[in-house]
Amino acid sequence: MPDADSPTQAAATATPHYPSFVDSAPKSGEGKCNGIQFNVYSFPFLGIEFATGVNSLLADKLIAAQRNLYNLCLSQKGVTSVSEEEFGLWCWYGQVPVGSTAANLKQVQHHIGMRGGGYHSSGSAVDINVGACPFIAGRTNKVTYGETHDTFPDDVVAQLAGLSPTELQQYRDSRKKVPDGQTKPKLPGDLKQRIWNAEVGFWRKNVWDPAVQIYDRAMQLMYNQDADVSDAATSSTRFNKTSDNPPVYVHYDRFVRVSLSLTYYFGLVYQRQSGGHQTLDYETFAGGFQALVDGGAFNPNAKDLDGQPLNVTIATNRDGVCRRYYDQIQADHEMIKRVFVKGHLQVDANQNVTVPAFRDPCDGFLNIRPEVVTELVCEQHLRWGCCLFGAGPDANGDVMHFDLGGDFGIFPFDASKVPATLNRQPGT
Ligand SMILES: [Zn+2]
Repeated sequence: MPDADSPTQAAATATPHYPSFVDSAPKSGEGKCNGIQFNVYSFPFLGIEFATGVNSLLADKLIAAQRNLYNLCLSQKGVTSVSEEEFGLWCWYGQVPVGSTAANLKQVQHHIGMRGGGYHSSGSAVDINVGACPFIAGRTNKVTYGETHDTFPDDVVAQLAGLSPTELQQYRDSRKKVPDGQTKPKLPGDLKQRIWNAEVGFWRKNVWDPAVQIYDRAMQLMYNQDADVSDAATSSTRFNKTSDNPPVYVHYDRFVRVSLSLTYYFGLVYQRQSGGHQTLDYETFAGGFQALVDGGAFNPNAKDLDGQPLNVTIATNRDGVCRRYYDQIQADHEMIKRVFVKGHLQVDANQNVTVPAFRDPCDGFLNIRPEVVTELVCEQHLRWGCCLFGAGPDANGDVMHFDLGGDFGIFPFDASKVPATLNRQPGT
């Protein structure tokens, strides 16, 4: 506590004084959603500005989180104050794009609060480190899921869903732009469901299943386990943290294992260099891979890509094993770009999927430090898109996203339940 002379005094002090970069949240605009007019606030959060702000209810929780994180930062450093830059760096060291380079703090993308879609339109959601936290695939009870993309050519929808010419016409009509005031013809419910099932099946086969299998291959090397990327939305442990110091959110822990395993797995073939990546040649890769196995860098019980004990097969069939990994890692690096996509996957008339832009798979998918997620979820009870949205398409997997669980924290929305504290100055 910066201002306290003794623990007794700290307890008696109503509000410790925090520097303005920790708890000032100026109003930056106004918004309207579900007929509710509200103020929007933008402020420095984790040393980064907002691109677009959030409502007072979320801002209040973010300020509360930031106060706690500031105190944790001071106690970890054993100091009584830090500058705004020092605090920002403490929040981001070790995470892409900062790594260990202070100058890279500027490269963390500004937080996105208000935007269309989800609970963002009421300022009740925030996306953090958008550039390095994609919408990943998940798996619960052996069923995979992830983000869907509404980018199918009409003919492909017809092929996938087996539409008759009449049904295809109905589908087209339902998607036409109509002049203001006119309503579009709606698809019959069963047809709509058939099309949705077909599209979900496509993404499952072409993106989510392959992605989760890649997680498993990476996890096998490091942990001799499949990836646990399952849902925790209704779990009794959904706000639990470990009792370690500092505490870590238990579900962060299992996702970050997968993310770090991917980083390590791709790093076997792709080496970072200034301005990009170098792909190792086969001999260099194989020499390095064998040295890692021999040096005990992988799990001692790790299985190779054919399910045989790696430490045995590397001794008896070095070239066969290494060649398989060399090819598989490169194929996986290409495939997993589909969940590291920036914007939307595209589908062409031949059902080929293309990735217009993507985050680097070598960076993993979880680049927010554990203390931050632990504070936001376990203390502030924000809902984390990674695993608290529920299993299913367009639910879990949104690693960058934290929200209040409904517009203004109300689900299902009911205007009469909007808290009286809406528009109160955050942090007061
Ligand atoms: Zn979001």
